[in-house]
Amino acid sequence: MSKTVYNPFESAQQQFDKVAESLGLDSGTRELLRQPMQEIHFTIPVKMDDGSTKVFKAYRIRHNDARGPAKGGIRFHPHETADTVRALSMWMTWKCAVVDIPLGGGKGGIVFDPHNLSANEQERLCRGYVRRLATQLGPNQDVPAPDVMSNGQHMLWMLDEYETISNGRYPSMITGKPVGMGGSLGRKEATGYGVVYVLKNLLKEMNIPIESTTASMQGFGNVGEYAARMYSELGGKIVAISCWNQVDAQSYTFRKLDGCDVEQLASIKDAFGGIDKEKAAALGYEVLPGEEWIKQDVDILIPAALENQITPAVFPNISKQVKVLCEAANGPTTPDCDPLIRERGIIVLPDFLCNAGGVTCSYFEQVQCSMNYFWDIDEVFEKLEYCMTKAFKAVYKLAVENDLYMRDAAYTIAIKRVAEAVKQRGWA
Ligand code: NAD
Repeated sequence: MSKTVYNPFESAQQQFDKVAESLGLDSGTRELLRQPMQEIHFTIPVKMDDGSTKVFKAYRIRHNDARGPAKGGIRFHPHETADTVRALSMWMTWKCAVVDIPLGGGKGGIVFDPHNLSANEQERLCRGYVRRLATQLGPNQDVPAPDVMSNGQHMLWMLDEYETISNGRYPSMITGKPVGMGGSLGRKEATGYGVVYVLKNLLKEMNIPIESTTASMQGFGNVGEYAARMYSELGGKIVAISCWNQVDAQSYTFRKLDGCDVEQLASIKDAFGGIDKEKAAALGYEVLPGEEWIKQDVDILIPAALENQITPAVFPNISKQVKVLCEAANGPTTPDCDPLIRERGIIVLPDFLCNAGGVTCSYFEQVQCSMNYFWDIDEVFEKLEYCMTKAFKAVYKLAVENDLYMRDAAYTIAIKRVAEAVKQRGWA
């Protein structure tokens, strides 16, 4: 019987253990890298608009900073758990390493749903988060960024609180800030565009023109929307997009077999990446159950929402036409599904390579903030495409030359780099 409940941290550890074993990593390094080096679990009391006080649970977890200051988003989600944040912090370490930027892995989370808080309440919560962590964050320690349901405004409130406490201006303390307030041009597009830069390179290796391909995706938030935009711009056809509907508390798949108009769907989505069901139907989209996205007869599946979406239980629903699984989300595939994917001959673009465009551009943002000199958008995209292409080529070459599953090839490169830094520092 296949599992129905997955723990993302266990998944992250299983993925690591498999490659650590094949690399023959010594036991000390293995022990150090299979868990976070620091965890802070805390509560944030917030005065609500009605005068009551609510207490929110929060985390900041640093997996490893041997290669540089920890880097990682702060996720706002009602189902956030310590294990999700642990897993995400671990994946950040590998992500920074695989694209070879001098940063480590960290992640944060606050257990709440921003749909249910006013802007003032959200501001107080963001400031409370930073007040509690002020001594632990900073450009040389740990640099947060947005993640699911957090955005540039949240980052700016956090920066303002940090700068008030620290009595100075430290714009490289946090990334994903609004442009004009220390943010980098291109950051909002970076993760989604990065996904497609990598996909484009893979299709080239496979001798498949991108214009001849079709795709179905889950998630139309920051990552999904910009991946969809770039993929369509390059001539690919998206036939279905699934996303969460806050009002009905369920997901729907919006399908148009002759191709979704990404611009049009973006104009009817809310701030959290939910597409308006009634408006989509009026525009001629079929409104199907949420899980239909995975069943479409397409060449490419792009999970761009949450973890644990591709499991052995749903794998049989994947069409035989699918050739590429492009993991735009973090941890969308469970480890027990990897053997099935490999056996079917589907090529995986593993999450921590595929969606590394976000952290790469965050790194560019830090560099620009440190120089106090900002690049124009073409320069950002050019550097981003260069980094993503270089990382993809190294992973693909290793996979082809050694007959490795793409995820294992990406892990091999990343783990080797981090283990080397750990060794050089004398930690193991
Ligand atoms: P987001 O909050 O902007 O969007 C999330 C999207 O997923 C929304 O469209 C939402 O409707 C959809 N969704 C949520 N639950 C769903 C469900 N059960 N079924 C179908 N759709 C559902 O988040 P984002 O920033 O786009 O992040 C998406 C994924 O990419 C996450 O795994 C995140 O960790 C990862 N990621 C994000 C970035 C970044 O720069 N934002 C960088 C790297 C990785």
